[in-house]
Amino acid sequence: MDLFEYQARDLFESYGVPVLQGLVADTPEEAAQAAAKIGGTVVVKAQVKAGGRGKAGGVKLAHTPEEAATAAEAILKLTIKGLPVNRVMIAQGAAIDKEYYFSVLLDRSNRTFLSLCSVEGGMEIEQLAEERPEALAKVAVDAIKGIDLAKATEIALAGGFDAEIAAKVAPVFVKLYEVFVKEDATLVEVNPLILSKSGEIIALDGKVSLDDNAEFRHERAEMERDVLDPLEAKAKESDLNYVKLDGEVGIIGNGAGLVMSTLDVVAYAGERHGGVKPANFLDIGGGASAEVMAAGLDVILGDPQVKSVFVNVFGGITACDAVANGIVGALAKLGSSATKPLVVRLDGNNVAEGRKILADANHPLVTVVDTMDEAADKAAELANK
Ligand code: GDP
Ligand code: MN
Repeated sequence: MDLFEYQARDLFESYGVPVLQGLVADTPEEAAQAAAKIGGTVVVKAQVKAGGRGKAGGVKLAHTPEEAATAAEAILKLTIKGLPVNRVMIAQGAAIDKEYYFSVLLDRSNRTFLSLCSVEGGMEIEQLAEERPEALAKVAVDAIKGIDLAKATEIALAGGFDAEIAAKVAPVFVKLYEVFVKEDATLVEVNPLILSKSGEIIALDGKVSLDDNAEFRHERAEMERDVLDPLEAKAKESDLNYVKLDGEVGIIGNGAGLVMSTLDVVAYAGERHGGVKPANFLDIGGGASAEVMAAGLDVILGDPQVKSVFVNVFGGITACDAVANGIVGALAKLGSSATKPLVVRLDGNNVAEGRKILADANHPLVTVVDTMDEAADKAAELANK
């Protein structure tokens, strides 16, 4: 589970990580009130779980409550990387001298924790890693020893800080590591961590991912409710494994392996069709009944970014005829709310019967394609129209 920036900010504050005041607002009026409460120059920031908000126009300075309202109004209309902005945070403005980068994360491949650090923060870290890899320190962190002041200093020096600033940021790294461990996070990232003109170190932006498998150890129901987007919440209600992605081709499959390879073939086919990409990961699991299929389609068709849907099912214990009946039943159930073209590829147990059911139903939105590659190509083509 990823947290919104304002939730990360609140968490940081509770651990004594230096942050600036921040209040959430869902309307321009609330934004003006929050700005008045904080006073002085504020920053209005889109609350979406994506980076690069600054570049997308989702971070704006405001000098008065009226300006904050105007900025909030504009930002609340944005969609950033496919995610609608439903909420903004009004943050106290900072006079920035320098922008730094710090993160600590779970390094699965090395079975350890890893800290990334750079004196050159602010820009997206992927870009820094690509353009100036030598400026980004990667320091392994032993899970037992963790990050104490000595380790934090080592990380800061590796990241290019001079000794004086390293001494200032190291205690903040120690606190951020405490957040990481005590909250069972898999990522704690601060970009930018700033040096203000008055010489203070402040976490100006925070990204925190929590380990869902450790949620039973924590009491934060409030946070979880806030954190789900409406489609994710809907999918969760129906026990569907759903992850929203940034593309246009909705994907439904049965079994995580099949869905993952479907993402690959769609991304590949998309290169021939205007660069369209998968819009989601949705595994409806073994029992692809009409109810489950309807719930899955309902979630995917509710994503305004979706232009076409690729249903890719391999019949096993649930045979293709049952799946085909599921699709026909789901479309009947959804009625006029189903409006986007569906490409269906069925294979496996009882495939002939399954295809016959779809052919007989002859639904205007459904195209049946026999192979996975051709179906991916068709779905990408339809999404590009
Ligand atoms: P991101 O683009 O989604 O990572 O959003 P950030 O919160 O990192 O903001 C992007 C950039 O906006 C930062 O790197 C800063 O340069 C700038 N910014 C954010 N908050 C402030 C602020 O309080 N004062 C000033 N002057 N700039 C800010
Ligand atoms: Mn940032």
